[in-house]
This record gives sequence, C-alpha cells and structure tokens, in this order.
Amino acid sequence: MGAGISLLGIPHDGNSSYLRGAAEAPALIRRELHSDAYSSWSETGLDLTGRFIDHGDIDFKQPGDPWQRIESEVGRAMDGGHPLISLGGDHAISWPVLRAVRRRHPGLTILHIDAHPDIYHAYDNNPRSHTSPFARIMEERLADRLIQVGLRTVNGHHRDQFRRFGVEVVEAARFREGLRLDLTTPVYISMDLDGLDPAFAPGVSHREPGGLSTRQVINLIQSIDQPIVAADIVEYNPSQDLSNLTALVAAKLLKEIAGMMLKTALG
Ligand code: MN
Ligand code: MN
Repeated sequence: MGAGISLLGIPHDGNSSYLRGAAEAPALIRRELHSDAYSSWSETGLDLTGRFIDHGDIDFKQPGDPWQRIESEVGRAMDGGHPLISLGGDHAISWPVLRAVRRRHPGLTILHIDAHPDIYHAYDNNPRSHTSPFARIMEERLADRLIQVGLRTVNGHHRDQFRRFGVEVVEAARFREGLRLDLTTPVYISMDLDGLDPAFAPGVSHREPGGLSTRQVINLIQSIDQPIVAADIVEYNPSQDLSNLTALVAAKLLKEIAGMMLKTALG
C-alpha cells in the first residue's frame, strides 16, 4: 500500500491524578476521524483515505505490567516501518511509548505541547503519574532534546527540573506566531489537548485558561522541518467534553500530524 500512518489506541487512565475518563478517548477520536461529516484531506494537500494502518486498542484486561505491554505493542506497531500516532489515554503513557520509539531513533527531539510541564520528580508517590512522564523520559535519556510549548502552570520545582534536564521551555506567556524551533533531528510530538485553551478543547481533566488556539497548534506542527516519526495525542476526557468538540479537535490535529508524516513519506 506504500506510504501509511500507523495508529494505536492506548486506553489507559490509571495514573491520572484527578479525573478518570481519558481511557474512553481512542474510540471517540476515531469516530470523528472517520466521520463522513469531515474532509479526509489534510492541509498539506494529501488525502488520508486508506493511509491509516490501525492496530486497534491495547487490551489492558490481559495480565501483566501495562507499561511493558505499551512498550511492546508500540514496538510491534512500528515494525512495519511507518510513522506511528498513539491515542491516549492520559499523559502517563508517553513514557513507555518513548522507550519503544527511542530504540528506533538514536536522534530524537520531543515537541511537547501542554499547559503543564508533567515533569514532577515525585507526585502522589506514583512514579508513573501523568504529572511525571517527562521526568522519567529525561532520566532515561529517551530524547536528545525536550521542547515544551504552551506551559502556564510552572512552579519552582518545575524550574529546578528544567535546569536539571536542560529542558527548552516556551511558556504560553511567551508564545508568539512564527516561533522557530531550530530542529536538527527527527521529531516526536506529544500533544496534550489541555495545551489548547479550554475554549477550543474543553474535554480535558485539567482545564487551564490562557492557552493556545487550534490554529496556533496546527501552524506550529506545520512549521516542523524535520521528519515527524511518531506522536501521541493524550488527555482527551470525554466526560468533560461539550458536543464532542474536543474529540473533533483531536481528530483534526491527528489529521494534520498525519498529513505532515505522509508528506515526508511521499517525498
Ligand atoms: Mn500532559
Ligand atoms: Mn496537561
């Protein structure tokens, strides 16, 4: 079938610190993605029809460590050699996903869009908390660079962690149109939907006003001038959504990330 994009649902919200619900996200995002109400073309000028290789959802009812499951299933989904988009789930899943992605990409920059840094050394005594994945990712050197964009909840401990790990941070207060990221390696996008302003994406567990618009996030994705080798879209919480608006935003971002991946694959 030539160029394609792998999809994998990771319906896990057991490490959310406040509300559950993100585990219900993958099916609802897929429904919007495939709805006849919307165009199947991405803004990169490519039709995505027939381009998705959907590996379904990880079944967490099977016994065993869910983190090992995620790592092995992501590895399996990437075996075909196509770029992968994972659908969370809460943000905790990014750690085991990146373990698998890193094995294939010795040079890797993470572009992390979020209201929150998710880099607590410890929170609720849970090293897998969705407040901590980027601490674990940087401890394990699963990326060469971490660039966080859209933050608006930064505290003193976070700033210590930024220094410790050399995190490059563009807080929402300093975000501007035409932001240049100066990327030099393949890119992993970690897209927390609460990076968007809740006016655009209300269906999240932690609404944080003062965020980016859907257009600003799409423009940032389209500015990436290195291959996007994998991505996750996390923290959609259907129990907080209004008229499936946030599922639709998630599907739109999925299409624009996929459109960039496909453009690279087709040369
Ligand atoms: Mn997050
Ligand atoms: Mn967040």
